[in-house]
Amino acid sequence: MNGLGFERADIRRAVQNSGKKIVNATAGIKALPIVSHEHHSEQHDHGAYDPHVWHDPILMQTYSRNITNALISIDPQGKEYYLNRLKDYQTKLNQLHVWTQSQFQMVPVAKRKAMTAHDSFAYLGNRYKIKFYSPQGVSTHDTASAATIASLIQQIKQEQIKALLIENMVNPRIVQQIAKEAKVNTKGTLYADALSIRGSSQNYWGLMRHNVSTLTNAMKN
Ligand SMILES: [Zn+2]
Repeated sequence: MNGLGFERADIRRAVQNSGKKIVNATAGIKALPIVSHEHHSEQHDHGAYDPHVWHDPILMQTYSRNITNALISIDPQGKEYYLNRLKDYQTKLNQLHVWTQSQFQMVPVAKRKAMTAHDSFAYLGNRYKIKFYSPQGVSTHDTASAATIASLIQQIKQEQIKALLIENMVNPRIVQQIAKEAKVNTKGTLYADALSIRGSSQNYWGLMRHNVSTLTNAMKN
């Protein structure tokens, strides 16, 4: 499991009842606390910590090590193979980090601001100094109150946020409404919690490259 409350309670229960070995891929990662101003849904399953760790390629080094260790513990004979694969994966993660850094460096820190549908990019923002705003909390089930929407519209105007982005798994309606009222355009779609069926974001590397390029273009203009 990803852990940090990402999996829904019924899925967590089913996994726990399976009697199989359970590994949390986020074990040992210093999680960010949820700082959302509005987080009151009955449906949400997220806990006190933000589960969206995968948007930070550096933290993914720990994540992939946890998965490797789990594979080795159930298949000790494959240890050397798994460790070699991990080494390749860590190299790719490092390259991804260096590339991501080079992209965001094209945007002055003062312009690194974006609004997304739900609060899913805090780890990316934390690593690369981007301030994210969102009408929904960390959960995709949360809804935003009229007061939250009004204050976000004001923030967009005051802080001149140019990057408003919709997400593949979240209803685009709220962000589109805010964009319309703040008189700015939405600047594309980000892949936050799931891969795409077609196109560039069908695997992790494609998802990251798509998100970083889309954000960079949206913020720098
Ligand atoms: Zn999410």
